Amino acid sequence: MLYYAGTVYFLRHEVRLRAKKHLGQNFLINPHYIEKLAASIHVAPGVPILEIGPGKGAITSLLAQKTDALFAVEKDHEAVAYLRQTLASHRNITLIEADVLKFDLASIAVPETLMVAVGNLPYNIASPIMLKILRNNRFFSAGYFMLQREVGDRLLARPRTKEYSFLTVAINTFARVHRLHLVPPGVFSPVPKVRSVFMHLAIRKETRLADSDIDNYFSLVTTAFSQRRKKVINTLCHRYHEDKVRQFFSEGRIHDTARAEELSVDEYLGLFKAVS
Ligand code: SAM
Repeated sequence: MLYYAGTVYFLRHEVRLRAKKHLGQNFLINPHYIEKLAASIHVAPGVPILEIGPGKGAITSLLAQKTDALFAVEKDHEAVAYLRQTLASHRNITLIEADVLKFDLASIAVPETLMVAVGNLPYNIASPIMLKILRNNRFFSAGYFMLQREVGDRLLARPRTKEYSFLTVAINTFARVHRLHLVPPGVFSPVPKVRSVFMHLAIRKETRLADSDIDNYFSLVTTAFSQRRKKVINTLCHRYHEDKVRQFFSEGRIHDTARAEELSVDEYLGLFKAVS
């Protein structure tokens, strides 16, 4: 009878929570790593946490010990139903069934208090999720994200390398990036085909761009990298006011033969201000 009850529980919960590839579900299953990751997440007293994609809650209750208010946004209806039962005793956890890319982050923001975002992210949409957090940088002091190793490398890339890209510039405009842990595939189920890395994004306190300028800035950086083998001045002159672009290059330290990968984050910010 006990076995039967256990089997029913298993069928109701575990089987229904079989990993869904389209949701990027690779669940953390190694307790040692789960504790190691949680231990490297620093949350000051009174700071709310946003967990993106709690899944089966591998790290959720450890996060709940670090805060008075944990908001967990999960798209998978079945995972949310499972978490509603398993996390029912945690009064400080608010489960939200939503697509984080469509979710209004302002709805959970507390005035004058910056949140910490955490997530073992679905790798297929990790970049848009991070960009969304940074578009909303006014609500956050930090992000801790599990990423595909190659994406982590791009966040840390230096100018003049092949990894230096739109994502590098976009993320580093708003955050200082640190690599915390390399994470082996065997700590997830199912085992991913790619290697993983746990990263810390410390959101910069200074405002470098007005909120209303962020999308236009991202658009400029995207344009610059759209033809990374060409001189960036030529790529930009097709899209922006040619005189302003040429004047920026003539005044600055950047040679007019430079390619997109040679400009630093500060130079992109300067360029954006010059052509806006
Ligand atoms: N945090 C869990 C863990 O570490 O075991 C699960 C991590 S799994 C890599 C990614 C999680 O994000 C899954 O639970 C998946 O359902 C969820 N997810 C995928 N796309 C999402 C979206 N657009 N919005 C919110 N959650 C999403």
